[in-house]
Amino acid sequence: MKKINIKNDQLQIYKRENSNLWQLKIKLPKKKAIRISSGTKILIEAKKIGIQKYNHLLNNEIKKIQIDKTYFYKKIHLIESENLNKKEIECFLDTSNKYIEFNKKRIKKSNILEGRTVFNLFFEDSTRTRTSFEVAAKRLGADLINVAVKDSSINKGETLLDTMTTINSMSPDVIILRHPEEGISKKISKIVKSSVINAGDGSHEHPTQALLDALTIRKKFKKFKGLKIAICGDILHSRVARSNIEILSTLGASINIIGPKSLIPLDLKRKKLNIYYNMKKGLKNCDIVMMLRIQKERIVGTHILNEKEYFNQYGLDYKKLSYAKKNAFVMHPGPMNRGVEIETNLADDISRSLIQEQVTMGVAIRMACLEILVNNRDKYGS
Ligand code: ASP
Repeated sequence: MKKINIKNDQLQIYKRENSNLWQLKIKLPKKKAIRISSGTKILIEAKKIGIQKYNHLLNNEIKKIQIDKTYFYKKIHLIESENLNKKEIECFLDTSNKYIEFNKKRIKKSNILEGRTVFNLFFEDSTRTRTSFEVAAKRLGADLINVAVKDSSINKGETLLDTMTTINSMSPDVIILRHPEEGISKKISKIVKSSVINAGDGSHEHPTQALLDALTIRKKFKKFKGLKIAICGDILHSRVARSNIEILSTLGASINIIGPKSLIPLDLKRKKLNIYYNMKKGLKNCDIVMMLRIQKERIVGTHILNEKEYFNQYGLDYKKLSYAKKNAFVMHPGPMNRGVEIETNLADDISRSLIQEQVTMGVAIRMACLEILVNNRDKYGS
């Protein structure tokens, strides 16, 4: 059979005068004209084209997230919570708001950090923090490189300094660093040209965790003043506890610290905190109960209870939760030792547990951190 190709002028789409119907006319030489009117495939095709065009416009719309580059936080690194004032903390929380909404959209892609390079450098295990930084950077359009530390030259004897110098020579915009040594992020921030985010340095600090916890609490309670928050468990080895104590008290919440004597650091006694060694007393009138993981990897030489005893005395279950306010919420930074610091059903009970919400807020806060630091570096960096 001979193949027929229709040329442009042989196909017409038009409307007849005084008619709402579209006509499609095909007239090939020496053939009878074919006419099809609306209600047939022509409209289905037009609809398809319309939808494609609309989605395209919509995507462009999403890319145009409005950012105001004048931030109350003026630094190019985020290393510790200790020196953050209330307005600086609020700057991170407020900047996250638009990302909470953005992350609910079907298409989560913006070009705010297009062309920027972000390195994830994790010398300790992580699932939540590492992946949420990765999701955050990618949603903002940045190129993210996960350095596989296990496969890197660190194992061939290269020092951390060598590794950092090498990465620095690749001109990154942001380095996200997790390392077992306390204070290492600060040291590195003085060597490299990029912004540095401390994603956990030993037992010292983990500022983005505390910011995401504050965002989760603010979303639920809309305020911090008048809130009583219990932070429970292995306080001694917890960078999450340290960062949260700073941030939540700066925001105006009152903090109860609860745990076994051997896991509460002495230096906390100097701060304006209420310290308890008993859950029943410590949880009284609390609005939020934040549980912490026992940091087995950091516990050396300290006497700790066996897991069963620990759960009986300090593990959170519905009974112990009833010592807090009637509708108190539960938080945990993860990963959880189920059945050790928290009862598994309670952890999964979304009417009481904010644990999944914390993960969701983690992405939004990390998007805000990346946005703020990159723009600050453009403005104030050398
Ligand atoms: N994920 C948190 C951290 O890295 C809490 C934990 O590991 O227990 O500090």
